Amino acid sequence: MSGMTKHRLIVFSDLDGCLLNKHDYQWQDARQCLLELRDRGVPLILASSKTVAEIEAIAAEIPCVNSPFISENGGAICWRSLATAGDPEIQCAGVPRSEILDLLAKLKSQFQFRSFRDLGLSGVMESTSLDAEKATAAMMRQSTEPLLWDDSENQRTEFEQILQQHKLTLTKGGRFWHVAGKISKGDALRKVVERYRNPGAVVAAIGDSQIDQSMLDAANVPIGIRVNGILSVNVSCPPGIVPQSEGARGWAEAVTELLRNFE
Ligand SMILES: [Mg+2]
Repeated sequence: MSGMTKHRLIVFSDLDGCLLNKHDYQWQDARQCLLELRDRGVPLILASSKTVAEIEAIAAEIPCVNSPFISENGGAICWRSLATAGDPEIQCAGVPRSEILDLLAKLKSQFQFRSFRDLGLSGVMESTSLDAEKATAAMMRQSTEPLLWDDSENQRTEFEQILQQHKLTLTKGGRFWHVAGKISKGDALRKVVERYRNPGAVVAAIGDSQIDQSMLDAANVPIGIRVNGILSVNVSCPPGIVPQSEGARGWAEAVTELLRNFE
């Protein structure tokens, strides 16, 4: 057994645009590298806007050691191998979705929007192009609620102010706006690192978009992946890694370089 079993290195990674290619959602270009991480016993903590059910399906496919993962952009942590007796395996780190839905229900008379709850399975399938199984997994949420905004821009500003009064945030991601508590991938990273109980561990974090920045800022080695030639994250402090390639191939290049420093 090598020193790696003490988790000298812990790798956090976003999915879309990083381990998963932006264009085809494939990760196979990183297979060799994933196997090497697994063989060395390095925990790979997936951290995504996806739900627990969605990440579970991906984690089951990818070769990696059984590690916790971060879902809904830090809104929930699924502890898996690090679950402790007496604590829930899935920890809601933000505002529970039930509270968000209660508030949204009250705001229905004032504003026009359709949340996942309003859309239902068929509506979510239609607006996301996901099949029934994937749409169902996307709807199993812990602490965030996506919605389609059907009202004016002025109304949206007012809506956002009301959410802020309830300590909620509104963020745009693709077609959907996301209502969530004050959560971040960086806060979730710190919680996970703490539970590994190795103050000397080197933490690497891989991201491609602004939502990943808090996670990169909290890491010892930030890794930024370009999308269509453009780097949208800052990996200069501390100095990090930016691979030449994009998606899974770039991910593998960066992790290979990272591992080289650990030999
Ligand atoms: Mg991404």
